[in-house]
Amino acid sequence: MSNAGDTASAAAAYAAANVRHLADTQTRPRTGSVLVPGRTRRANPGSLIDPGILDHMVASHAELVEHTRANTDMTPPVPPEHAAVYSWWAQQAPQLSEGARRAGEAIVYRQALEHALRADDITAIRRERCPSCDCLSLRWVAAMRAAVCMNTKYDSDERARPRRFNLQQIAEKAVEDLMFRAAT
Ligand SMILES: [Zn+2]
Repeated sequence: MSNAGDTASAAAAYAAANVRHLADTQTRPRTGSVLVPGRTRRANPGSLIDPGILDHMVASHAELVEHTRANTDMTPPVPPEHAAVYSWWAQQAPQLSEGARRAGEAIVYRQALEHALRADDITAIRRERCPSCDCLSLRWVAAMRAAVCMNTKYDSDERARPRRFNLQQIAEKAVEDLMFRAAT
């Protein structure tokens, strides 16, 4: 049997790296380091982080904490720093039921992809396998808020095979693959 912690740790490390990168993109000095004329002032002058990004980070943190608390009686204090919440979760993952752990892994992995997209890194989607044909053929279409499989040889409307996937579907496929790799 594979070590249940491997997949959780791998997903947690990926999400932590991506949220750190997202935070870095927000605190990088802006061109000229002066307010750009015509740009609206930030809602929170004390924070360099875009309020929309901050909301996203707070919501992601809360989602994972709530999911974990709903599935275990024992939860040590939650670290306030966003990236640290993933290692906090990974430490508890082995104590979760298999179903709760798998659901948690998918949440963590989906959040990793969400952080990458928020940081404008669409290549994160290209590195994921298509949930339908298993090829590295996904492209992110921002207007659709979905990834589309470009491999129409396998996945197409004509073949009645799905070719449009949301981040949750891509994350579930990715953690399945991680588990498979950990088991072999
Ligand atoms: Zn496909």
